Amino acid sequence: MLPPSPWKTGYRGRCPRCGEGKLYSSFLKVADGCTYCGLKYDFENAGDGAVPFLILIIGGIGVGLGAWVLLAFDTGVLAPILVTVPVVILLTLFLLPKAKGLLIALQYVNAAGDTGTDAIDE
Ligand SMILES: [Zn+2]
Repeated sequence: MLPPSPWKTGYRGRCPRCGEGKLYSSFLKVADGCTYCGLKYDFENAGDGAVPFLILIIGGIGVGLGAWVLLAFDTGVLAPILVTVPVVILLTLFLLPKAKGLLIALQYVNAAGDTGTDAIDE
């Protein structure tokens, strides 16, 4: 049986194998394993891997939004900051667990292992 879509399980914060059990035990803390199918999440090594993607995506949105507010409404510098900062913070809090879940699910589906120094030592 094929595992569920990494996009779907990542977005929902669910187990990459069964799509049912929870991936996180708290906001961004990955649980020890799936309570539904028993998959251990010790293969997970996403770390901060989702952050660079979100910096590019949310940063682009934030800069665009700030520039639009500044130019469209002919305001001072403070208004774009007051609009952009909350949007960036909320988008980050919303997307970060989903992006990390996507990376973990992609690790599972592609059987991505650790790229440490083991291969170099051999
Ligand atoms: Zn599971």
